[in-house]
Amino acid sequence: MADQYQKHRLKMVDAQIRARGIKDRRVLAAMEKIPRHWFIDEGLVNQAYNDSPLPIDRQQTISQPYIVALMTEAMQLTGREKVLEIGTGSGYQTAILAELAERVFSIERIAVLASRARKVLDVLNYYNVAIRVGDGTYGWREESPFAAIMVTAGAPRVPQLLIEQLDVGGRLVIPVGGRHSQVLMKLTRQSEDPADIKQEELGGCRFVDLIGEHGWDDK
Ligand code: SAM
Repeated sequence: MADQYQKHRLKMVDAQIRARGIKDRRVLAAMEKIPRHWFIDEGLVNQAYNDSPLPIDRQQTISQPYIVALMTEAMQLTGREKVLEIGTGSGYQTAILAELAERVFSIERIAVLASRARKVLDVLNYYNVAIRVGDGTYGWREESPFAAIMVTAGAPRVPQLLIEQLDVGGRLVIPVGGRHSQVLMKLTRQSEDPADIKQEELGGCRFVDLIGEHGWDDK
């Protein structure tokens, strides 16, 4: 989509994402296409393509573009998948997933964020996204299993229900650790046995809290 920010977007992908080793061409193309500035408050629009997270409403954040790319690449999407996202936030990451998977289910605990994200996704014609307001630490059982699940908030531990809602071969990408810093984990379900998991560490990160029954307390 050509717009006044396209030049900034292409530069963001080159300097922040490709240069740091992200290779998946579909991920790079989606990030070159999707107008990140649409998901950000008007007053911050000129920072939309900076190399940093930005505040959104209710003390939440839109993640750093590189982290969005890293997590999305780890999902290994081909376009045929049904995926789950926990933490819709601004809806930017949701749009990236909608571009790269067949269907996206996204859960956000803060209703005002979910409805704002819905509006932007509708304007951008991402009709393959379903958003629900609630505690994503339970997953979305009726729609499971998923080929990939992404959690965009920091968890104290991996919620077991999410592993159970993965397909065999499915990937779960989730920041796990303390309230101030986490390690980005990729878990791949190896067989019908939900304990049969391959675990990889993708690096350090810092996310807002995953708050819920199988996350942190709300305080
Ligand atoms: N991916 C988002 C984006 O592109 O804007 C960034 C998400 S922000 C870092 C994390 C989001 O997770 C917040 O909007 C927060 O309200 C949400 N969240 C935290 N705990 C949650 C839970 N248990 N279920 C659903 N959403 C949750």
